[in-house]
Amino acid sequence: MASLLDKIKEYVNDVAYNVKKVLPLKDDLDKIIESEYEKAFEILDKYIEYIKREYGIDYKIPRLEISEDESSYDAWYLPTRNEICFFKESIEEYIDNELKFLGYKEINDIEYLNNSIGSKILLYPSYINKKNKRESIAESITRLVMFHEFWHSIDFSILDKLEKDPTIKNRYYLLTILNDRDNIELRASAFEVVMYYLANGFHKHKNGYVAAYANIPICRTYIEKIDILEKNKNTKEYVPYGLGFCYGNIVVAKYGSSLKENIYKIIDDIIHLNKEKAIDVIKLYGDNPDKLLHDKNSNSVI
Ligand SMILES: [Zn+2]
Repeated sequence: MASLLDKIKEYVNDVAYNVKKVLPLKDDLDKIIESEYEKAFEILDKYIEYIKREYGIDYKIPRLEISEDESSYDAWYLPTRNEICFFKESIEEYIDNELKFLGYKEINDIEYLNNSIGSKILLYPSYINKKNKRESIAESITRLVMFHEFWHSIDFSILDKLEKDPTIKNRYYLLTILNDRDNIELRASAFEVVMYYLANGFHKHKNGYVAAYANIPICRTYIEKIDILEKNKNTKEYVPYGLGFCYGNIVVAKYGSSLKENIYKIIDDIIHLNKEKAIDVIKLYGDNPDKLLHDKNSNSVI
């Protein structure tokens, strides 16, 4: 009898979970965003110290704002207030889309979510608790977006330093790339992927980093179409996000389990990253995927 009772309890729990998963997270989403903000800056602490030391920036951690307002963005960084703002409604919508993408199939511990921009589907891994898919997805999305917005705050600190200090190394080059909004989004998207893999430990897990490999042929095709996409006013495709995501995937695939050992070099590369460099790297490794396996310790372009 006890086992039957257990089964009934389990069934009731499952029903409860299923009801919960279709409802928006509302206040729970605030808690998830706040907790991801704390976690992100704990993880980032030593990298922030490194960038402060190497590039002489005066960096202050941005404060967090959670907005109930409607927006076409998931989040943004406001340099004038040094603030990262998350738009809850957009994040809920993003979660709904990911839930649809997962569908009703049997869920594994690591599943793949969709970071599609325009028509292409780019995957990224996510730990999914099958009893609460909505919350798991919310954590992954928030983490990804948090790292993206964080990088904007770093770029603005670097820009501020460059404008004030004429003696800084590579000043003209860095000023030129940082004054171009396309590069700003590209760099934040590249960093977002790399740090997401590192923070979750996916770089050490075959079922995690396989997503980065799977995206490479899609990225290679994507850069062939960039000129057309950018010129076509109807597609409204804004390529820097996709390009940055692709560049980040190449970095993850290239370094794999040694991502952490090489993270300072990777950060330096992202600081110097612009659109042309990103396209070169995607071409190089997209055409020669085997190179990724042999190039881990080389000082090649990335
Ligand atoms: Zn951005």
